[in-house]
Amino acid sequence: MDEPVIRGAAVDEQTRCRHYAGPLDVVAIRFFCCDRWYPCLKCHQEAEAHPISRWPLGRRAERALLCGVCRHRFSIAEYLVAEACADCGAGFNPGCATHHEFYFEL
Ligand SMILES: [Zn+2]
Ligand SMILES: [Zn+2]
Ligand SMILES: [Zn+2]
Repeated sequence: MDEPVIRGAAVDEQTRCRHYAGPLDVVAIRFFCCDRWYPCLKCHQEAEAHPISRWPLGRRAERALLCGVCRHRFSIAEYLVAEACADCGAGFNPGCATHHEFYFEL
């Protein structure tokens, strides 16, 4: 599998960006609207002219998330219930759950 290009205001190799740069902010997402990877929705909004469209409910099997620590890609269904990367154990920011509605149809 080719390594995805992470766009936006990334500040390090673990996909933190200037909006979310805490120790647990290590997840990047592939957006449904443009099939491009960004560290967060603010990065997407700054770089793209179109509004975000959310992943439909029927696409939960899409591997649209990436762990910035180990580059493991996992599905939306896996991500929605994960507290850490299943591959390397890196913890995910629990605060991201409050943003799921911007990325996914819930
Ligand atoms: Zn987009
Ligand atoms: Zn960002
Ligand atoms: Zn990982």
